[in-house]
Amino acid sequence: MVKGTDTKRILLAYLPFCTPASPPYSVTYLYSFLKANCDAQVRVLDLNLEFHKLKFPEYLEYYQDMTKWDDYDKKTTEYKELTKKTYSESNKKVVEGGKPELFEELLGMILDRKPDIVAFSIVYSSQAFYAYALLKELKSRGVKTVVGGPAVNEKLTKLASASLKNEIELLSYVTGKEAEHDRLKFDFPIDFTQHDLKGYFTPHPVIPIKTSTTCPYKGCAFCSHYGRMPYFEYHIETIKKNVMMSGQKHFFIIDDGMPPTRLLKIAEALAPLGVRWTCQLRPTKELDPALMKKLRESGLAMVLWGVESGSDRVLKMMNKGTNVKDIEKVLSASHAAGIKNITFIMFGFPTETREEAAETIEFLKKNSANIDLVSSSVFGLQKGTAIYNKPDQYGIIHITETQRTVLEPSISYEVEAGMTQKQADTFRDGHKKTLEKINRYPKTMNFFREHMLCSIDG
Ligand code: SF4
Repeated sequence: MVKGTDTKRILLAYLPFCTPASPPYSVTYLYSFLKANCDAQVRVLDLNLEFHKLKFPEYLEYYQDMTKWDDYDKKTTEYKELTKKTYSESNKKVVEGGKPELFEELLGMILDRKPDIVAFSIVYSSQAFYAYALLKELKSRGVKTVVGGPAVNEKLTKLASASLKNEIELLSYVTGKEAEHDRLKFDFPIDFTQHDLKGYFTPHPVIPIKTSTTCPYKGCAFCSHYGRMPYFEYHIETIKKNVMMSGQKHFFIIDDGMPPTRLLKIAEALAPLGVRWTCQLRPTKELDPALMKKLRESGLAMVLWGVESGSDRVLKMMNKGTNVKDIEKVLSASHAAGIKNITFIMFGFPTETREEAAETIEFLKKNSANIDLVSSSVFGLQKGTAIYNKPDQYGIIHITETQRTVLEPSISYEVEAGMTQKQADTFRDGHKKTLEKINRYPKTMNFFREHMLCSIDG
C-alpha cells in the first residue's frame, strides 16, 4: 500500500455512449486495484448511465419491470432508433467543434466531486466523442486528465495529461512513485458498491465479472481483442468472493473465452451460490453433454457462442480452431442441458463466397432447434489482427485508410476473391427474415443480452 496520497481525489469516469445494462467492469476494477494498493480518495462515476437516466427515463422504467415486456421487440426497436439518432447527432456536434448533448450536466457531475485527477476508461470507440469534448474542457480548466483502455486513440492521447497502459501505470501516476511490482496486491475483491446497482436498464442488476486477463486462445485471424496481454487466470476463491460480495444473483462473465477445464472449476465454485450466469465460448469438442450438464447445474443459463460460419473452409481460414461437425454437437449438448444458445455469425470474411455464406444460412436452419438467438455481423478489417498484418494471405489486395476527426482512420479494402464487404452486407440483409425466424427470443435482445439472461426461467 502506497501511503501519503490520501489527500488526492481521483475520479474514475465511464463515458457515453454504450448500452446502460450493467455497471462498467473497467473502472470498477481500477477502483478496486487503487483501493488495494494506495490510500488516495478514489471515486467512480458512470456518466454513461447518468446520460441515459436523464435522457431516457421512460425506457429505464420499462426495462426495470419485466411485467411490461409484452411489446419488448417493438419498444426496443423504438429505443434503438432513438438512441442511434441521439448518439449520432451528439457525436456530429463534437466533430464540428461543439459540445455533445447534456454536456453541462455531465461536466457538473465531474466538477462537483472536485477531483485532482479525472481518469477516463475508453472501452468502445463510441465513447471517444464524449471523451474528446470533456478532455478539451477539463484541460481548459486546468484539471489533470488520464486516458486508458482499448479504444484510446492518438487524438485523445494528445488532449489528455497522460495516456496510461494499465492499472500499474495508473497507480504510479496517482502516487507519483514508481510502483514496485512484487509489493502490489492483485488478489483483491472487485468492489461494485460505488455503483447504484438498481439504477441500470435491467430488471435485476447484472454484474460483469472477469476470471482471467485475456483470451486463452488468441488465434482468430479477425480478432485483436487480446492485444499483447499475457493470459493469466484469477484465483477461483477470489472470483467466488467477488460473486458473494456483490450480493447479486445475475452474472455476466465477460472473458473472451475459457478453457473447458477452467470452465468446470468456475462452475464448481459457482454451483453452491445459487446464481444465474452467462459467458462467451468457442464451440470446441471438449464441451460435451456431461460437461454442459454440469455447467447448467451450476447456474449457467445462456452462452454466447463464437460460431462465425457454417463452412469448414471459412472456419479454417479464420483459424477458429473449430469445425462444423463439432459446433453442431456442442450446440445440441448445450440445448439438451437446458442452456440457451446465442450464436455469433460473421458474414464476408475475406475469400468467403456467396455459396459459403449460403452454407452458413443452411447450417443455422438445420440447427435451429438448438439456437435461441442469432447475432450476425459483417466482417470489418481492424488493425492488430492477423489479416491486417498479412493481408495477401487472405486475398486482400488493397487497404485504404481514411482520416477522421475524433476516431482512428476508417479502414476499407478490396478483395481478390469472394464477396466484397458491400456484397456481404447485401447478402445478410437479403437473409434477414430467415435469420429472424430462427430466434426464440426477441431479436432486439441482441442489443441488451442482459435482458435475455434476466428473462430465462429457472
Ligand atoms: S474471437 Fe474470441 S476466441 Fe477468437 S481470438 Fe478473439 S477473443 Fe479469442
